[in-house]
Amino acid sequence: MPIEILLPRCVSSGMCALTAPEVFDQDDDLGRVVLLRRDPGPDLADAVRDAAASCPAQAIRLHDPAPAAQPPGVSPA
Ligand code: SF4
Repeated sequence: MPIEILLPRCVSSGMCALTAPEVFDQDDDLGRVVLLRRDPGPDLADAVRDAAASCPAQAIRLHDPAPAAQPPGVSPA
């Protein structure tokens, strides 16, 4: 799941680093987010989604891969 950081929005709350420390850190100067892994694997997807949802500045944008196409005549569940 590729991650995009909108750094000018970051207000240094640290929620992302607390929620998914394998993926997010904070810089030593201003405490702004540092992305450790730009495209973490599926094992970290839930933590990354939680981190993005917890960001008070909406500075974390996730680019979920498109769902697999359904064969013709099959309705999505
Ligand atoms: S949770 Fe959002 S505002 Fe807080 S440090 Fe992370 S990116 Fe910045």
